Amino acid sequence: MTRRNILKFRRIVIKIGTSSLILPNGKINLSNIDELAFVLSDLNNKGYEVILVTSGAVGVGLNVLEMDKRPADIATQQALASIGQVELMSLYTQMFRRYSQKVSQLLLTRDVTDFPTSRENAENALSALLSMNIIPIINENDAIAVDEMDHQTKFGDNDKLGAIVAKLVDADLLIMLSDIDGLYDKNPTIYDDAQIFREIHEITDELREMAGGAGSRFGTGGMTSKLSAAQILFENGQEMVLTNGARIREIREIIAGKEIGTYFYRK
Ligand code: ADP
Repeated sequence: MTRRNILKFRRIVIKIGTSSLILPNGKINLSNIDELAFVLSDLNNKGYEVILVTSGAVGVGLNVLEMDKRPADIATQQALASIGQVELMSLYTQMFRRYSQKVSQLLLTRDVTDFPTSRENAENALSALLSMNIIPIINENDAIAVDEMDHQTKFGDNDKLGAIVAKLVDADLLIMLSDIDGLYDKNPTIYDDAQIFREIHEITDELREMAGGAGSRFGTGGMTSKLSAAQILFENGQEMVLTNGARIREIREIIAGKEIGTYFYRK
């Protein structure tokens, strides 16, 4: 069945998680980053407005310093984020350049989106970038925020950041790339008989219960944060597709309305 609604969507936010950027052995997933650059550049050429929300600064920082374990203290984690963020952007810039696509970087903290004046500035900067045909690449400013650092947080996590950016740019759709094909009725990495949901129209307590399982080695854990992101979108009348970051090429099919992943929309 075609998801007809999606066919008219033009402004798309893509959120990619660390598990799609870093291999289980800690090395950079170059083919995924290259594929992402190719697909997003192709969409931009076809007239879509594309915004990328990326995690991965700490993961890439670990890779740069050849460390295999995330350090426990905040200052070192933030140093790693600072080191990793430039390297991550350098990778994106190189990959996007292969497809003649210009990119830019925006590092946000929660206060930027909470204060009306700075929020408006961010909105204006983003719309100026989009009108210049540039793909903005957004991350949380992990080097100075305590977000994503297993402590008190500001945005909470990058799934939430994805939803907040979608709200900021008034996106038609958020495509959330994870390490799993969609939302299941139970954790499919544990239960063979888990069934995927093709559509979700409401975030219920029962659903949150199903999503409670632990996540990947690098991710922030389970589907709970994806559901909270979907809730933010629902409150703003927006939509989301949760799908597998291992098959980035399918983004084009998703936008063409093909039934891939889990589609979150209010009926
Ligand atoms: P990412 O880092 O890719 O953003 P996470 O690793 O945080 O994502 O979350 C994805 C993981 O959530 C899956 O690999 C799976 O192990 C776990 N999970 C737990 N419950 C569910 C569920 N009901 N449906 C899908 N995945 C689930």
